[in-house]
Amino acid sequence: MALRFFNTLTRATEEFAPIAAPAVGMYCCGPTVYDFGHIGNFRTFVFSDLVRRHLEFRGFAVNHVMNITDVEDKIIRRVHETGLDLREYTRQYIDAFLQDLDALGCRRPHQMPRATDHIAAMLRLIARLMERGLAYRAADGSVYFSIDKYRAAERWPGCACRYGQLVNLNLEEQRPAGPVKADEYDKEHVADFALWKARVPEDGGVFWESPWGPGRPGWHIECSAMSLEILGDGFDLHVGGEDLAFPHHEDEIAQSEGAGGLAGGLWEARRPFVKYWLHAAHLLVEGRKMSKSLGNYFTVRDLLARGFTGRDVRQLLISAHYRETFNFTLDGLEGARTALARIDECTGKLRELAGPAIAAPAPALVEAFTAALDDDLNVSKAWGVVFDWVRDTNRALAGGELDPTRAAAELAAWGTVDGVLGLGGRPSAEAPAEALALVEARTAAKKAKDFARADAIRGELKALGWTIEDTAKGPKLKRI
Ligand code: AMP
Ligand code: ZN
Repeated sequence: MALRFFNTLTRATEEFAPIAAPAVGMYCCGPTVYDFGHIGNFRTFVFSDLVRRHLEFRGFAVNHVMNITDVEDKIIRRVHETGLDLREYTRQYIDAFLQDLDALGCRRPHQMPRATDHIAAMLRLIARLMERGLAYRAADGSVYFSIDKYRAAERWPGCACRYGQLVNLNLEEQRPAGPVKADEYDKEHVADFALWKARVPEDGGVFWESPWGPGRPGWHIECSAMSLEILGDGFDLHVGGEDLAFPHHEDEIAQSEGAGGLAGGLWEARRPFVKYWLHAAHLLVEGRKMSKSLGNYFTVRDLLARGFTGRDVRQLLISAHYRETFNFTLDGLEGARTALARIDECTGKLRELAGPAIAAPAPALVEAFTAALDDDLNVSKAWGVVFDWVRDTNRALAGGELDPTRAAAELAAWGTVDGVLGLGGRPSAEAPAEALALVEARTAAKKAKDFARADAIRGELKALGWTIEDTAKGPKLKRI
């Protein structure tokens, strides 16, 4: 079966056929670095990692771009509160973001452009919109995108520009009185939005020169310019959280298609800005979106401090289908930990039995898993496949039905599947240094035939939450 995705643009599940296979250009709206990201944000980023991993597994050569929004209304406010310089202020949250991505087992995007490094491309795009008469300078000196002019223009000869491609809009009813300068505006309204925001005293030192006077870019133009500059005029895949579909993504389409691309490529090829749009549903807390403004959030660091691992959090975040919202609870996270322990136990036993044996992946698990993910990344189905496999493998192990080669083949199958899930093995370093030191002390005590001490150490490990198993390859720590 072919790989299929639900495309928000056509509201249909479609076969994935990139513009120039096997190359795939993929853009994901990245973090706004005004603070630590919460795990709601990371649901979207882990989802984009899953998309990328599955595409790579299916033989595509993905160029994964994720921007960093490092100039925007909220950031400017914080910069002034802290008195730091913009770069200094955002640096700490960019570093934290990368650490969190690593903790969650995400492959680093190939390119992570920062908005402030791409101002020239933004100015070029705005200039094209001005030339085509789709943008105007208002009395406040800012440059706005004209929705009316855009709707009356052509995307390419004979093809009208359409505002409302990702969402259904009622343009006559949803009109605000005038243009809006804020990056995040009321979702109930369709408005002329700011491309270039004229400098105001509150901006302090955060401004750039432009043909329309000093100022800074709007959030929407940032993503259009960076994606077009890096992936070219017209690319395959754009990913983000569902809250971004309108107005952020709709505005990205309008600016990019209105301008014909950064170099006129959309006009020449008569091609849309983006072929496939994928939107991830929200992570909820007690039925409401996890968000900074509601104060109902956990950061990755909060959860690590509670003793969970990045792997536990990743498992939870990819346990539900990406188009379904789901409620975050600490119990759910405990459940993720238990699920991983079941897998780890099974693969641990396979590893022991396989020893040095090497074999090609057993096909059954890989085939069923691939079919599930090819179906619009149906992870719910994929987890069903994985846990059926765990159950059947445990049975076969208990019944003595597997030889080392077969065990190695099942293990290789798990390795293939996990290349997409990205969970990785339970890192041995995960046991705290204190527990590892106790294991060594116990080995030394046993060597010295001090069995009372060896038993006492068992008790000390138990108090730390670990138990020791003596295997043919030496003692092994296991979480209780
Ligand atoms: P921001 O840093 O606020 O620009 O958001 C970064 C990404 O996180 C965007 O793609 C948002 O759509 C996404 N996002 C924000 N809140 C949530 C949530 N509760 N669940 C899932 N994704 C979210
Ligand atoms: Zn964006």
